[in-house]
Amino acid sequence: MSETLSGQATSTISAVVGRADVLIVGGGLSGAMLAAQLLRLPGRRRILIVEPRAELGRGEAYSATELGHTLNGNAARMSVDPDNADDLTQWLEAFIAKGGWPESDQQHVPVSELFPPRGIFGLYVQQRLAEAREQGAVSGSTAEHVCGEAVDLHIDSSGARLTLADGQCLEGAYAVLATGMFPAARTRQKHSSGLNAAAIDPWDVAAMSRLDPQGTVLIIGSGLTMVDAVVSLEQAGHRGPIRVFSRHGLLPHVRRQPPAWEDFLAADQSIRSPRQLLREVRRQCAAALASGIDWQAPLDTVRAHIGRLWSQASDVQRRQFVRHVRPWWESHHHRSPPLSAELVERLYKEGRLTIEAASLKGLDEPRDGRVSISIRPRGESRARTVTGEALINSTGIEYDWRRVDRPLPQQLLARGLIRPGPLALGIAADPGGAVVDAEGDVSTRLFAMGPPLRGMWWESTAVTDVASQAKALAVRLAQLMDSQKGRG
Ligand SMILES: Cc1cc2nc3c(=O)[nH]c(=O)nc-3n(C[C@H](O)[C@H](O)[C@H](O)COP(=O)(O)OP(=O)(O)OC[C@H]3O[C@@H](n4cnc5c(N)ncnc54)[C@H](O)[C@@H]3O)c2cc1C
Repeated sequence: MSETLSGQATSTISAVVGRADVLIVGGGLSGAMLAAQLLRLPGRRRILIVEPRAELGRGEAYSATELGHTLNGNAARMSVDPDNADDLTQWLEAFIAKGGWPESDQQHVPVSELFPPRGIFGLYVQQRLAEAREQGAVSGSTAEHVCGEAVDLHIDSSGARLTLADGQCLEGAYAVLATGMFPAARTRQKHSSGLNAAAIDPWDVAAMSRLDPQGTVLIIGSGLTMVDAVVSLEQAGHRGPIRVFSRHGLLPHVRRQPPAWEDFLAADQSIRSPRQLLREVRRQCAAALASGIDWQAPLDTVRAHIGRLWSQASDVQRRQFVRHVRPWWESHHHRSPPLSAELVERLYKEGRLTIEAASLKGLDEPRDGRVSISIRPRGESRARTVTGEALINSTGIEYDWRRVDRPLPQQLLARGLIRPGPLALGIAADPGGAVVDAEGDVSTRLFAMGPPLRGMWWESTAVTDVASQAKALAVRLAQLMDSQKGRG
């Protein structure tokens, strides 16, 4: 059976695909893992995954082709199987034994401690999906890739009708928005002031290799995308100055392998506000350091509670968190893989990479073919102009769907099928991912998972978040389908 319904027979695609049980919009990690979980459950189901990329399971993150663009967590932390934390380690051991990723033996650490290239992680996701397809085939379940972009959606009491960019329609009893993140660096966005048009993609090594190797490169943003961009520049042979600007001037810390630490938030459920949380985390980190233990040990226990704390918080508390804790959380929790961190540190020590606390005020007219930006250093009242050979925008993600200039988010908002999530981060949904519409009603047909639920959970993006949501949503959808069949 063909895995792709694109290309051939597109003019009769609705006749070809008929009606699916579940339409998944987006075939990155979320879409692929949801399909895999559904295929493994008993019952016979037809799943259609709409995804414009040629391959499922990769999305933005795992389409990386550079070996230096690695996961930011080691293999033991990145399993896509919520029931088996060693799943990626086991897969990687077999992959390396068969001659895949020969460069891994230069690292001299156990496989569980390796930080795999994201492209190799994409292969792992694809293999798990392929296995689930084989398992599903036994009971007649299928998951097919429809290659295209969904541009509109209608929902009624019987299900969902999805329109693709080529005008074709797909119908499904249920639809799931697994559309991922809209990265600032790659998305045409409203209000981007031309920044993205003037900037080089942080992962485009080919474009970087066309730059003057000694030219100055300006980078906006200092998170993990900046770290990737520095890896890309190094790979492209760039040896000139790199000037990084970000509001707080904080670099991500390097990820180490800290020992286990007591789960203090499980033990004390009275901690709820950002202020209480910060105070207790500081106390725990100080206690760890005083006993010679890495501060990352207590911090890593917080991750499992962030969703609960965020969802219990009031909007005022959430705003406090975003304003006061977020920069610190981003640099301490979203840590850099060791090899990339080593590179950044080396360039910093050599004086080639500088980091300046400053906010971007705008893009100026190019001068003599050079990019020119206006920045305001932290603590100063006046902006100044900085020029360079090239500009890289690594300011991260646009989570506010009202600002994303893509047809589907715009149509969903215009039809009132979705409404912004808390603090306008992603979209609103119930705790199980059923989308809340503009009137405040919880949909019985439309669901979402992964990054679109950022506002519901704060952390809803990492591999482990996506993997556990996929499992829970698959069970929920299967129950709905079974009860529907029972009634029918
Ligand atoms: C560069 C990068 C590096 C990352 N590194 C890590 C890491 O090291 N560790 C970690 O835990 N997490 C990491 N992440 C987070 C990562 O996004 C998630 O782990 C995961 O990719 C989310 O999967 P997703 O399928 O929800 O989103 P995505 O991977 O973004 O996939 C969404 C898919 O939906 C498709 N789509 C969007 N709109 C439509 C539409 N209208 N119609 C059809 N298809 C559509 C897109 O083409 C895309 O392929 C990284 C993210 C990025 C961007």
